[in-house]
Amino acid sequence: MQTPDTPYLSVVLPIYNEEESIPVLLSRITAALDPVGKPYEIVCVNDGSSDSSLSLLQDAAGKNPRIRIVNFRKNHGQTAAFDAGFHAARGEVVVTMDADLQNDPADIPRLLEKMKDYDVVCGWRQKRNDPWIRLFSSRIANGVRNWLSDETITDTGCSLKAFRREHLLRLKLFNGMHRFLPTLLKMEGCSVVEVPVSHHPRQYGVSKYGIGNRLFKGIYDLIAVRWMKKRYLAYRNDMEIL
Ligand code: UDP
Ligand code: MG
Repeated sequence: MQTPDTPYLSVVLPIYNEEESIPVLLSRITAALDPVGKPYEIVCVNDGSSDSSLSLLQDAAGKNPRIRIVNFRKNHGQTAAFDAGFHAARGEVVVTMDADLQNDPADIPRLLEKMKDYDVVCGWRQKRNDPWIRLFSSRIANGVRNWLSDETITDTGCSLKAFRREHLLRLKLFNGMHRFLPTLLKMEGCSVVEVPVSHHPRQYGVSKYGIGNRLFKGIYDLIAVRWMKKRYLAYRNDMEIL
């Protein structure tokens, strides 16, 4: 049952030193979601930023009751930020996106449309605007990831995704697992679809990832996911109590 206090949608934003993007991002989310006409909240997870991100968020939250803040006193990484956001969120549907304006809030209504038929909707950056070295390393990472985890997701690195919150809360996440959310949720029996979304070059600030903390860690994490998939207690999706 939805009361005025329980939003339909929670937008969860992981934020680590994104001070220049925050004001523009919040106003673009508002501009994209107000016309949808469904109650929503914006859950901003400040992941131990050392710039003025937190005070900007506090200013914004003071003016807009839809904005809520989860604050980490130090940096814990993007999976931790997502996990905290998922637990703080109250919406039936959770939309995640980068806080650096690379994802476009204008795509959210299309993801919500698809949520009528699926449990998980993944954005797919068909025309991706990143430096060539990132595109190259992502292509390798996606290929190896899909091969070793027997997966078909084209672009799991795209943060813009929509989920039913009840399914997210069933997952026990570990550092690095945000890249495998569609795979982990498929294991739980969720239906997953990909939709093309736009992608912009990073306008402000710097990427928090390089080859070392993305490609190599990602491959290591992949071994864990491969193991989980092989050892999954598949009876869960194949059982009835008579
Ligand atoms: N981020 C975070 N904690 C971290 C690293 C990143 O909350 O330790 C956030 C970051 O602020 C951004 C999102 O996660 O909103 C994705 O990071 P980034 O844009 O640097 O990744 P890229 O798009 O370059 O893969
Ligand atoms: Mg980014």
